[in-house]
Amino acid sequence: MRRLGGFADRLARSVRVKLLALVLAPLLLGVPLLLGMVWSWGNEAYDRLMGFKISSDLVTAHEYFERVKSGVGRDLSALANSRALASALADTAPERLAQRLQSMALTDGLDFLHLLDRDGRLLAAAAGQPRLPAEWLGMPAVAAAMTGAALTSVEVVDASTLEAIDPALRRRAYLPLVPTEAAAPDRRSFEDRGMIIHAAAPVYDDARHLIGVLEGGVLLNGNLAIVDRINAIVYKEGSLPLGSLGTATLFLGDTRIATNVRLFEGQRALGTRVSRAVRDQVLGAGRDWLGTAFVVNEIYVSGYEPVTNGRDERVGMLYVGFLEAPLRHAKQLGMFALFATFLVLSLLGSVLSLRWARSVFKPIERMNAVIQRVEQGDSAARVGELASRDEIGRLAGEFDHLLDTLATKQEELRRWADELDRKVMARTAELAETNASLRQAQQQLVMSEKLAAIGELTAGVAHEINNPVAVIQGNLDVLREVLGPSAAPVREEIRLIHQQADRIRQIVTKLLQFARPGEFAGYVETVDVNAVVDDCLVLTRHNLDKRGIRVETRLDAHAGVEINRSELQQVLINLIVNAVQAMPAGGRLTLLSEVWLEQGLQLGTVIHVRDTGQGIAGEDLDRIFDPFFTTKRGSGTGLGLSISYTIVQRYGGRITVSSTPGAGSEFSVWLRSQPEYDDSPSAPGFEARWRRGRGGGDGGGQPLR
Ligand code: ADP
Repeated sequence: MRRLGGFADRLARSVRVKLLALVLAPLLLGVPLLLGMVWSWGNEAYDRLMGFKISSDLVTAHEYFERVKSGVGRDLSALANSRALASALADTAPERLAQRLQSMALTDGLDFLHLLDRDGRLLAAAAGQPRLPAEWLGMPAVAAAMTGAALTSVEVVDASTLEAIDPALRRRAYLPLVPTEAAAPDRRSFEDRGMIIHAAAPVYDDARHLIGVLEGGVLLNGNLAIVDRINAIVYKEGSLPLGSLGTATLFLGDTRIATNVRLFEGQRALGTRVSRAVRDQVLGAGRDWLGTAFVVNEIYVSGYEPVTNGRDERVGMLYVGFLEAPLRHAKQLGMFALFATFLVLSLLGSVLSLRWARSVFKPIERMNAVIQRVEQGDSAARVGELASRDEIGRLAGEFDHLLDTLATKQEELRRWADELDRKVMARTAELAETNASLRQAQQQLVMSEKLAAIGELTAGVAHEINNPVAVIQGNLDVLREVLGPSAAPVREEIRLIHQQADRIRQIVTKLLQFARPGEFAGYVETVDVNAVVDDCLVLTRHNLDKRGIRVETRLDAHAGVEINRSELQQVLINLIVNAVQAMPAGGRLTLLSEVWLEQGLQLGTVIHVRDTGQGIAGEDLDRIFDPFFTTKRGSGTGLGLSISYTIVQRYGGRITVSSTPGAGSEFSVWLRSQPEYDDSPSAPGFEARWRRGRGGGDGGGQPLR
């Protein structure tokens, strides 16, 4: 069942199996059909042939039997008309007549011969002294001869009649019955009747007057000469093929009384009986039997015909037949050879078809395998060279070509995809950058707004504070003048108040400067940067010395810078003071000036202020230019760098820083020879920080040396 399912599955999946089934189906269905037809036709033809053969055999046997019969009649008529009989009749001595009849019977092979007078009385007999029963005269042959007509017929006579004719005949006729399979039941154990060919002819005197009847006959029981003769005529030597054996039989009723059919030990099958079926058809219905029949112990192709007596009653049968087995074997052998040939041819055809189909479908199967490999990712899979040059072979070649084209296109697509990826990534990066810039711009805007508001507030508050401070200082002066010498005990306190008030004023001024840088600009002139550096050193000398700081200068700048001198001084002092504060335990302060060159162009001058102080922490570096950012809690304002940057930036310059925590810092002031004013009204502090950030990013800063 599973195998059948497997085949159905293969049939559904494989074109080769489908086409093969298509080709083989007629062969596998047609051949058995053809064989069946050959078998049936063969059998029919065989049966018909056997029928023809046996029917012609039966005709031959019948003819011969009739000839024997009429031969007896002819012999008897010849004797009746013979001179010999006439002269015997003329002889009055009855012994002489009997002798003459005896010799006549012997000559013509008759088993009995009687001469009757015209009244039916026995005149003479060839053997013994028969006492013929009265019915004897009613025998058809005798009765006919009495009327002057010669007649021969087959007759059955009972044992007593035989005894009356000749006791030897009765003994010869006696036959024990042999029990036979399939025969009709018969209670008798022997057959003692006799079957005879009985002939009678009228005997005339010279004047053609009927003077008597000559009658005689031949006993057929055990008359093997006749059946052997029939057999010899019908089945001449070599007339039956393949060693088949011909047989002939005479039946009295259904009992074999003369036959050459043999029983087991070569003994003739006398006393055996015919099957009931044959008996019913031939003796009962009076029809010939032509066909196979079980005879004694084997199947024979048989022909039976009824034998009738003078009154047209069926009294026995004539049979001829031949052994069927050798012919049947020959037929079966022939059929077997035919079937075997068909089978071998079919098998051979199937094998050849299979092999051929395989070679035809190989390209398709290889294409299928290639498709599966390609599906699994092996894009290099190809059908390759094929021996087949037919359409399918060419198709496989085209298929490879198609795969090559596909692979090329795929490669191109992949390249385009990579290119696209790269472009998308570049565009995404650009967008991200733009986004960052946008975010920065947005933050800048918000910060600008905030710082503008702070600036506004600071300016207002500063103005408000300046006036009371001026009043305090003025009144302090008044107080000192009024008190005069009396103020001596509190001079120190007055000085401290004055000093602190001055500190307030300075802080306020710085705040104002931070909030309104433009208002403190003053005039601009061409300034010798190196000279300003020297001035600043003089002004901060006291602080430097106090901390024991060594100062180095290398002032190589030679061009002037257009700037407000005091503003530049303020910026540099601021940087120097920060440097000093970064070196509480002393160190080295280096001041450098050089030409600011960019892409071969001399833009202005750059001043470097380098210290060996504590340096600036990485996280603070971004914030030191922010307004109010300080690490000097209590003493710092966080405005120094912010204001310095704002000042420098206003002239189109910038301040950059680089620092190594624990090693020192370097601030660089980039000043244009010709200022490019940037008077943006809002957020100077933020602007400074922003510009410083960019300056630091494009390499404007110098590493510490
Ligand atoms: P302040 O000096 O009042 O704190 P600044 O704006 O001048 O305000 O300086 C801001 C901060 O920058 C300082 O608090 C300090 O931390 C740092 N700073 C400035 N200059 C130096 C320097 N040369 N060495 C180390 N830190 C410095």
